[in-house]
Amino acid sequence: MTQDKKIPQVTAKRLPLYYRYLEKLHLLGKQRVSSSQLSKELLIDPATIRRDFSHLGELGKKGYGYNVSYLLKFLRDFLRQDEATNVILVGVGNLGTALLHYNFYKSRNTKIVAAFDNNPNKYNKEMDGIPIYSMESLEEVINLFNVEVAILTVPVSVAQQITEKMVEAGIKGILNFTPSRLTVPNNVRVHHIDLTTELQTLVYFLKNFTSDELIEEEENNI
Ligand code: NAD
Repeated sequence: MTQDKKIPQVTAKRLPLYYRYLEKLHLLGKQRVSSSQLSKELLIDPATIRRDFSHLGELGKKGYGYNVSYLLKFLRDFLRQDEATNVILVGVGNLGTALLHYNFYKSRNTKIVAAFDNNPNKYNKEMDGIPIYSMESLEEVINLFNVEVAILTVPVSVAQQITEKMVEAGIKGILNFTPSRLTVPNNVRVHHIDLTTELQTLVYFLKNFTSDELIEEEENNI
């Protein structure tokens, strides 16, 4: 099945960008698109786009480009865009609040369905239509909404203990904004969003590479 094909992580991260732009083209009635058009719109090097698509199979034709509806359908299946993904968020503080307001408005199929906090001033309320529960309801709500993905925005000191509770309740994927290196069973995947490291890496690259070397580095980073 296409979804099970292994593709480089950097490519996987760009697929939703392609998908969103193709959706726009499709709405405008466009039937084909070239890698250079995609490149101009998405600010991604055309060679990178061609290489990304080549990981997915023979999707384009030389001199024709890509068929918009075919590519859109292919990416929809590949990204499983037709399947709704319910997400919970734990820790409705500064960062959690910002993410609740954002609520992945660009994705029709990914949404935060519930949030949790242990502060009584925060739970038993709604924020932007999203209910905030106390931690006691964690397992029940995860089961109710069939949730497998969680966003973690609690203080670092409680991150591991909350992770264990979430995993016990059935969470399989965690987007971890805390600086804690979480320990989880093999069947659970954690993605760390570490803004400090990202910023330091960016500064390092700017200081140590020319712009040509930066493009080459990006292309080799698969
Ligand atoms: P915050 O203190 O504003 O929010 C933390 C929230 O977690 C609070 O609402 C608190 O009541 C709740 N909480 C505390 N203990 C809990 C528990 N045991 N169970 C459930 N909820 C609990 O913190 P923040 O600034 O939003 O940061 C959250 C995490 O994200 C931290 O680990 C921080 O290091 C990390 N982070 C924050 C930022 C940022 O810009 N604010 C950026 C990157 C990473």
